[in-house]
Amino acid sequence: MYVVVSDNMSFEDSMAVSAVAFEKTCFIERSSESNDMEYSKEGETQIKFSKEVKCEMVDFDSLPDYLKDNEFILGYYRCEWPLKETILSIFSIHNETLNIWTHLIGFLIFLSLTVFTAMMIPKDAPFPSMQHPGELENAMPALISWHLPELLVNCLPKRFSYASNVTDPCVLTSVKDDVTSIISPLLMKPVTRWPFFAFLCGAMFCLLTSSICHLILCHSERMAFIMLRLDYVGIAALIVTSFYPLVYYSFMCQPFYCHLYMGFITTFGVATISVSLVPVFQTAEFRSVRAGLFFCMGVSGLLPIMHKLIAFHHRPEVILSAGYELLMGTFYGLGVVVYATRIPERWMPGRFDIIGHSHQLFHVLVIAGAYTHYLAGLVYLKWRDFEGC
Ligand SMILES: [Zn+2]
Repeated sequence: MYVVVSDNMSFEDSMAVSAVAFEKTCFIERSSESNDMEYSKEGETQIKFSKEVKCEMVDFDSLPDYLKDNEFILGYYRCEWPLKETILSIFSIHNETLNIWTHLIGFLIFLSLTVFTAMMIPKDAPFPSMQHPGELENAMPALISWHLPELLVNCLPKRFSYASNVTDPCVLTSVKDDVTSIISPLLMKPVTRWPFFAFLCGAMFCLLTSSICHLILCHSERMAFIMLRLDYVGIAALIVTSFYPLVYYSFMCQPFYCHLYMGFITTFGVATISVSLVPVFQTAEFRSVRAGLFFCMGVSGLLPIMHKLIAFHHRPEVILSAGYELLMGTFYGLGVVVYATRIPERWMPGRFDIIGHSHQLFHVLVIAGAYTHYLAGLVYLKWRDFEGC
């Protein structure tokens, strides 16, 4: 590390100037040695320090107002450290360490799930025009229709024929179903994956921006301003893209409702992000408006879920996916309650500064909620891959 010192300044003065430059809570641990000195053309002395900058953590009471968020976490705060030290603090212990790592690990989990999902897409069919099993019936009516039992009668050994009077027609119907289930996948084209990948990208974006936000927000007030907005955008992106698999795969055969719900949530998401980014809405009086917008955006997911249940209540995939969505809502709801009530640290202030405070629990619950939504997405893919419209 290099510090520029003018010839007419004492070393003590230069150290004082340097201390200001290195922010309030950081200092240079060891002074320079004579053989580390270098001289520039302008007559200035450049002193090379062999030690890195050391930064200290501070208590809640020492924080500037913009970093005061949770009065029940008393210590282990990083405060206005230089950017390099702030970034490197990802490997040290402070009250944000687990907030950073929970969502960073969550990001890596969803990255792995994305790769896994991309690899498990079935190969396109040799007959790309056949997108749905229903088309199979049009193409091969004798195979799929109720004529098949008669067809099979002609091929099967005599003891299975109607003439022998021993074969239950149900057996032949069952054989027809088996043949259909074998042939149909061969002629199917898998349903489009983009809504599912949009959700996975939204989840990865949210988790990564959250992790970065927790890492470098404490660097400066300007950085906090930027990072909080990025965090809002990430949350909105996760909520909006979570709708896409649900709405698209449920209503892909009813374009009106599909476009209606997709358009609604996308518009809602863009509006929420805009409100979060415009400075006039950043004042304290709009805090409840911002929170209300995010809440309404999440809760509006109930509408397509109820609609789906009414329209397709006979489909086991719809019941199963709704079960996952209920579980997801429970995880997210629990997360919001923990986040808002600041449990457990409010019961024992200072006890959970490093491990176990509400924001860490909130992060874990968000990952659990997003993962159950991923499982619901797999159910949708299986349903639409096999049945189409
Ligand atoms: Zn967070």
